[in-house]
Amino acid sequence: MDLRIGQGYDIHRLAEGRELWLGGIRIASPVGLVGHSDADALLHAVIDAVLGALALGDIGGWFPDTDETWRGADSKMLLRRVLEDERVAPWRLVNLDCTIIAERPKLMAHKEAIRSSLAALLGCDVSCVSVKAKTHEKLDSLGAGEALSAIAVVLLEKKG
Ligand code: MG
Repeated sequence: MDLRIGQGYDIHRLAEGRELWLGGIRIASPVGLVGHSDADALLHAVIDAVLGALALGDIGGWFPDTDETWRGADSKMLLRRVLEDERVAPWRLVNLDCTIIAERPKLMAHKEAIRSSLAALLGCDVSCVSVKAKTHEKLDSLGAGEALSAIAVVLLEKKG
């Protein structure tokens, strides 16, 4: 079996007046993530995990934040571009496991919707996608609600 594992991490600052996008869906929240694109930290971690599994660099190299092309970019589109790349397309997702770390907003009620969104974007069954959410126990900038971070691990298998 031809298997590859990859991990990705991302963090974005939280601010009032920004939309909150996580895993490709918009979440109603008084605070959102600040970034060059839509700042979907979870999708950015997933993209880096896929790229990492195949040793294809990182999201910053693929979509530089100095490039105006990607200003306000929909991260779902960035993921789609990665998945459609000729070096990525021959691989299928075995499973994805994610953790979102944020003191605010509370994500418990949104985890299933985020899971479904990720499964749809990745073209896999929802049973292959895990989304966990936790706080940072009020410690550091994450714990102060100044930022949100995400960690993703993927396993890819070469298509037969
Ligand atoms: Mg990012």
